[in-house]
Amino acid sequence: MGFFDRPPYVATINGEVFRCVVCQGGLFTSRSIKLNTGGMEFLDLAWANKSSLGVICTNCGYVHEFLGDALQLWDSESGARAS
Ligand SMILES: [Zn+2]
Repeated sequence: MGFFDRPPYVATINGEVFRCVVCQGGLFTSRSIKLNTGGMEFLDLAWANKSSLGVICTNCGYVHEFLGDALQLWDSESGARAS
């Protein structure tokens, strides 16, 4: 068990394949990132649903953080929509 215990996902943004901004890797895992902690509460991010989607490159570990629903994740093995 651990950070990479789920099958990696392929990510798209509005239909365009998304690649890691650091290493150009194309496989990611994801986790929800809560925004309503610490200083973020002070910024009143109620409009943002108080969570964002963290998409983590399985190659280099860089965390890309998204708000909204433009990002889509696809199971890299089955091709099924993951989120
Ligand atoms: Zn990367």
